[in-house]
Amino acid sequence: MPQFIFPVVGPVTYTNDWGDSRGDHSHQGNDLLAPRRAPAVATEDGRISFHTTSSLAGCMLYLYGDSGTTYLYIHLNNDRTKRNGNQGACVAGTAYWKGIKDGQRVKAGQPIGYVGDSGDADGTPHLHFEVHPGDGGAVNPFPYLKNAPRLLFMAPAGSTVTLAMTGSFISTAPGLVRVKVDTLRVLPVGPVLARLARPIVLTVPPDALVQKLLPSGIAGSAAQLTSARRGQPVSVLTLPVATSLDVQLARDGILSASRILLSG
Ligand SMILES: [Zn+2]
Repeated sequence: MPQFIFPVVGPVTYTNDWGDSRGDHSHQGNDLLAPRRAPAVATEDGRISFHTTSSLAGCMLYLYGDSGTTYLYIHLNNDRTKRNGNQGACVAGTAYWKGIKDGQRVKAGQPIGYVGDSGDADGTPHLHFEVHPGDGGAVNPFPYLKNAPRLLFMAPAGSTVTLAMTGSFISTAPGLVRVKVDTLRVLPVGPVLARLARPIVLTVPPDALVQKLLPSGIAGSAAQLTSARRGQPVSVLTLPVATSLDVQLARDGILSASRILLSG
Protein backbone atom coordinates (compact mmCIF):
# COMPACT_ATOMS: atom_id res chain seq x y z
CA MET A 1 0.00 0.00 0.00
CA PRO A 2 1.61 3.31 -1.02
CA GLN A 3 1.73 6.03 1.61
CA PHE A 4 -0.91 8.51 0.69
CA ILE A 5 -2.56 11.79 1.73
CA PHE A 6 -6.22 11.91 2.76
CA PRO A 7 -8.10 13.21 -0.31
CA VAL A 8 -10.31 15.88 1.30
CA VAL A 9 -9.40 18.91 3.44
CA GLY A 10 -11.64 20.01 6.30
CA PRO A 11 -14.42 18.26 8.19
CA VAL A 12 -15.32 14.90 6.67
CA THR A 13 -17.50 12.01 7.75
CA TYR A 14 -17.32 8.58 6.20
CA THR A 15 -17.93 4.95 7.02
CA ASN A 16 -16.73 1.63 5.68
CA ASP A 17 -19.45 1.57 3.02
CA TRP A 18 -17.41 -0.45 0.54
CA GLY A 19 -19.50 -3.24 -0.97
CA ASP A 20 -22.83 -1.80 0.17
CA SER A 21 -25.69 -2.57 -2.17
CA ARG A 22 -26.38 0.20 -4.67
CA GLY A 23 -29.28 -1.33 -6.54
CA ASP A 24 -27.77 -3.30 -9.39
CA HIS A 25 -24.17 -3.17 -8.15
CA SER A 26 -22.10 -3.04 -4.99
CA HIS A 27 -20.41 0.16 -3.87
CA GLN A 28 -16.91 0.32 -5.37
CA GLY A 29 -15.51 3.04 -3.11
CA ASN A 30 -16.08 5.04 0.07
CA ASP A 31 -18.27 8.15 0.24
CA LEU A 32 -16.57 11.07 2.00
CA LEU A 33 -19.24 13.54 3.09
CA ALA A 34 -17.89 17.08 3.16
CA PRO A 35 -19.13 20.62 2.61
CA ARG A 36 -19.81 21.71 -0.98
CA ARG A 37 -16.55 22.97 -2.55
CA ALA A 38 -14.27 21.48 0.11
CA PRO A 39 -10.81 21.02 -1.47
CA ALA A 40 -10.04 17.59 -2.92
CA VAL A 41 -6.28 16.96 -3.01
CA ALA A 42 -3.96 14.53 -4.76
CA THR A 43 -3.31 11.48 -2.62
CA GLU A 44 0.11 10.96 -4.15
CA ASP A 45 2.32 12.34 -6.91
CA GLY A 46 1.01 11.50 -10.36
CA ARG A 47 -0.87 12.66 -13.41
CA ILE A 48 -4.53 13.67 -13.59
CA SER A 49 -7.13 13.16 -16.27
CA PHE A 50 -10.56 14.81 -16.40
CA HIS A 51 -13.65 12.74 -17.17
CA THR A 52 -16.69 14.84 -17.95
CA THR A 53 -19.22 12.69 -19.78
CA SER A 54 -20.70 10.29 -17.21
CA SER A 55 -24.28 11.07 -16.18
CA LEU A 56 -23.88 8.97 -13.02
CA ALA A 57 -20.37 10.05 -11.96
CA GLY A 58 -20.86 13.66 -13.05
CA CYS A 59 -17.64 15.64 -12.99
CA MET A 60 -14.93 13.09 -12.33
CA LEU A 61 -11.16 12.92 -12.19
CA TYR A 62 -8.60 10.13 -12.47
CA LEU A 63 -5.30 10.40 -10.64
CA TYR A 64 -2.70 8.00 -12.05
CA GLY A 65 -0.34 7.75 -9.08
CA ASP A 66 3.37 7.20 -9.59
CA SER A 67 3.06 4.06 -7.43
CA GLY A 68 0.90 2.51 -10.17
CA THR A 69 -2.32 2.91 -8.20
CA THR A 70 -5.15 4.83 -9.86
CA TYR A 71 -7.55 6.93 -7.75
CA LEU A 72 -11.02 8.02 -8.85
CA TYR A 73 -12.59 11.27 -7.62
CA ILE A 74 -16.31 11.24 -8.44
CA HIS A 75 -19.22 13.75 -8.07
CA LEU A 76 -17.01 16.87 -8.08
CA ASN A 77 -18.74 20.24 -7.84
CA ASN A 78 -21.14 21.39 -10.57
CA ASP A 79 -22.70 24.37 -8.79
CA ARG A 80 -21.91 27.98 -9.55
CA THR A 81 -23.09 29.29 -6.21
CA LYS A 82 -23.63 27.94 -2.72
CA ARG A 83 -27.04 26.78 -3.90
CA ASN A 84 -27.59 23.47 -5.65
CA GLY A 85 -28.22 24.86 -9.13
CA ASN A 86 -26.28 22.32 -11.23
CA GLN A 87 -25.41 25.17 -13.61
CA GLY A 88 -21.64 24.67 -13.57
CA ALA A 89 -19.71 22.72 -16.20
CA CYS A 90 -17.00 20.15 -15.47
CA VAL A 91 -14.22 22.71 -15.85
CA ALA A 92 -11.36 24.16 -13.81
CA GLY A 93 -12.67 26.65 -11.26
CA THR A 94 -15.94 24.74 -10.85
CA ALA A 95 -15.29 20.98 -10.65
CA TYR A 96 -11.50 20.98 -10.94
CA TRP A 97 -9.24 23.26 -8.96
CA LYS A 98 -8.79 26.75 -10.35
CA GLY A 99 -5.98 26.76 -12.93
CA ILE A 100 -5.55 22.98 -13.06
CA LYS A 101 -5.18 21.40 -16.52
CA ASP A 102 -6.33 18.07 -17.90
CA GLY A 103 -3.33 15.73 -18.20
CA GLN A 104 -0.99 17.69 -15.95
CA ARG A 105 1.30 16.29 -13.28
CA VAL A 106 0.43 16.97 -9.66
CA LYS A 107 2.16 16.59 -6.30
CA ALA A 108 0.77 14.79 -3.26
CA GLY A 109 -1.41 17.21 -1.30
CA GLN A 110 -1.92 19.56 -4.25
CA PRO A 111 -5.55 20.69 -4.65
CA ILE A 112 -7.10 19.18 -7.78
CA GLY A 113 -10.86 19.55 -7.36
CA TYR A 114 -13.84 20.67 -5.32
CA VAL A 115 -16.16 18.27 -3.51
CA GLY A 116 -19.68 18.45 -4.92
CA ASP A 117 -22.80 16.59 -5.87
CA SER A 118 -22.65 16.18 -9.65
CA GLY A 119 -24.10 13.11 -11.33
CA ASP A 120 -26.39 10.92 -9.24
CA ALA A 121 -25.10 12.48 -5.99
CA ASP A 122 -27.33 15.51 -6.65
CA GLY A 123 -28.27 17.17 -3.36
CA THR A 124 -25.73 15.26 -1.21
CA PRO A 125 -22.24 16.73 -1.61
CA HIS A 126 -19.61 14.03 -1.13
CA LEU A 127 -16.53 12.61 -2.76
CA HIS A 128 -17.00 9.08 -4.02
CA PHE A 129 -13.41 7.89 -3.82
CA GLU A 130 -12.00 4.72 -5.39
CA VAL A 131 -8.60 3.02 -5.18
CA HIS A 132 -7.42 0.81 -8.05
CA PRO A 133 -4.02 -0.80 -7.32
CA GLY A 134 -2.00 -1.46 -10.46
CA ASP A 135 -4.70 0.41 -12.41
CA GLY A 136 -6.85 -2.74 -12.05
CA GLY A 137 -9.99 -3.53 -10.10
CA ALA A 138 -11.17 -1.42 -7.19
CA VAL A 139 -10.26 -2.31 -3.59
CA ASN A 140 -11.73 -0.97 -0.36
CA PRO A 141 -10.27 2.53 0.27
CA PHE A 142 -11.17 2.39 3.97
CA PRO A 143 -7.84 1.01 5.28
CA TYR A 144 -5.99 3.68 3.26
CA LEU A 145 -8.23 6.49 4.49
CA LYS A 146 -8.16 5.48 8.15
CA ASN A 147 -4.38 5.80 8.40
CA ALA A 148 -3.82 8.64 5.96
CA PRO A 149 -2.24 11.91 7.10
CA ARG A 150 -4.69 14.78 6.64
CA LEU A 151 -4.05 18.32 5.58
CA LEU A 152 -5.12 20.65 8.41
CA PHE A 153 -5.84 23.51 6.00
CA MET A 154 -5.50 24.66 2.39
CA ALA A 155 -3.54 27.73 1.29
CA PRO A 156 -1.60 28.57 -1.87
CA ALA A 157 1.85 26.92 -1.94
CA GLY A 158 4.54 29.31 -0.77
CA SER A 159 2.08 31.79 0.76
CA THR A 160 2.66 32.91 4.32
CA VAL A 161 -0.26 32.32 6.64
CA THR A 162 -1.17 32.63 10.30
CA LEU A 163 -3.60 30.17 11.84
CA ALA A 164 -6.17 31.22 14.44
CA MET A 165 -7.53 28.12 16.15
CA THR A 166 -9.93 27.29 18.93
CA GLY A 167 -10.23 23.95 20.63
CA SER A 168 -9.22 22.30 23.87
CA PHE A 169 -6.03 21.72 25.80
CA ILE A 170 -4.69 18.16 25.87
CA SER A 171 -1.24 18.28 27.46
CA THR A 172 2.04 20.15 27.63
CA ALA A 173 5.75 19.36 27.79
CA PRO A 174 8.68 21.79 27.94
CA GLY A 175 8.42 23.98 24.82
CA LEU A 176 5.43 22.07 23.45
CA VAL A 177 1.66 22.04 23.74
CA ARG A 178 -0.81 19.50 22.41
CA VAL A 179 -4.28 20.78 21.63
CA LYS A 180 -7.37 19.43 19.92
CA VAL A 181 -8.34 21.88 17.18
CA ASP A 182 -12.07 22.34 16.61
CA THR A 183 -12.21 25.49 14.47
CA LEU A 184 -9.49 27.03 12.37
CA ARG A 185 -9.26 30.25 10.41
CA VAL A 186 -6.47 30.73 7.86
CA LEU A 187 -5.33 34.37 7.98
CA PRO A 188 -5.32 36.67 6.16
CA VAL A 189 -7.88 35.46 3.65
CA GLY A 190 -8.70 31.81 4.19
CA PRO A 191 -11.92 30.10 5.07
CA VAL A 192 -13.07 28.98 8.51
CA LEU A 193 -12.98 25.23 9.04
CA ALA A 194 -15.19 23.89 11.83
CA ARG A 195 -15.79 20.54 13.56
CA LEU A 196 -12.22 19.38 12.94
CA ALA A 197 -11.55 17.49 16.21
CA ARG A 198 -7.90 17.32 15.19
CA PRO A 199 -5.09 16.86 17.76
CA ILE A 200 -1.91 18.77 16.88
CA VAL A 201 1.39 19.52 18.62
CA LEU A 202 2.76 23.07 18.50
CA THR A 203 6.08 24.41 19.72
CA VAL A 204 5.80 27.15 22.34
CA PRO A 205 8.73 29.58 22.00
CA PRO A 206 9.94 31.25 25.23
CA ASP A 207 8.42 34.58 24.17
CA ALA A 208 4.97 33.17 23.37
CA LEU A 209 2.18 34.87 25.31
CA VAL A 210 0.17 32.54 27.51
CA GLN A 211 -2.79 34.26 29.15
CA LYS A 212 -6.11 33.62 30.81
CA LEU A 213 -9.16 34.60 28.79
CA LEU A 214 -11.60 36.40 31.09
CA PRO A 215 -15.36 35.77 30.80
CA SER A 216 -15.68 39.25 29.27
CA GLY A 217 -13.59 38.02 26.34
CA ILE A 218 -10.58 40.12 27.33
CA ALA A 219 -7.14 38.59 27.81
CA GLY A 220 -6.20 38.70 31.47
CA SER A 221 -3.13 37.86 33.49
CA ALA A 222 -0.31 35.58 32.42
CA ALA A 223 -1.04 31.87 32.82
CA GLN A 224 0.99 28.67 32.93
CA LEU A 225 0.35 25.82 30.55
CA THR A 226 1.41 23.45 33.32
CA SER A 227 -1.66 24.51 35.30
CA ALA A 228 -4.08 23.95 32.40
CA ARG A 229 -6.34 20.94 32.60
CA ARG A 230 -7.20 18.48 29.87
CA GLY A 231 -10.30 19.61 27.97
CA GLN A 232 -9.94 23.26 28.99
CA PRO A 233 -11.05 25.60 26.15
CA VAL A 234 -8.10 27.21 24.42
CA SER A 235 -7.42 29.61 21.54
CA VAL A 236 -4.10 29.57 19.74
CA LEU A 237 -2.63 32.04 17.29
CA THR A 238 0.42 30.74 15.43
CA LEU A 239 3.48 32.58 14.25
CA PRO A 240 3.39 33.32 10.51
CA VAL A 241 4.55 30.29 8.54
CA ALA A 242 5.31 29.62 4.86
CA THR A 243 2.88 27.07 3.44
CA SER A 244 4.35 23.69 2.56
CA LEU A 245 3.05 20.14 2.53
CA ASP A 246 4.55 19.41 5.97
CA VAL A 247 3.04 22.61 7.37
CA GLN A 248 -0.37 21.78 5.90
CA LEU A 249 -0.11 18.30 7.38
CA ALA A 250 0.61 20.02 10.74
CA ARG A 251 3.49 17.65 11.47
CA ASP A 252 4.33 17.60 15.19
CA GLY A 253 6.06 20.81 16.23
CA ILE A 254 6.12 22.42 12.78
CA LEU A 255 3.63 25.09 13.84
CA SER A 256 4.64 27.52 16.58
CA ALA A 257 2.30 29.34 18.94
CA SER A 258 2.66 33.10 19.34
CA ARG A 259 -0.27 33.47 21.71
CA ILE A 260 -2.29 31.00 23.75
CA LEU A 261 -5.45 31.98 25.60
CA LEU A 262 -6.86 29.64 28.24
CA SER A 263 -10.48 30.09 29.24
CA GLY A 264 -12.83 28.53 31.75
ZN1 LIG B 1 -20.20 6.34 -3.58
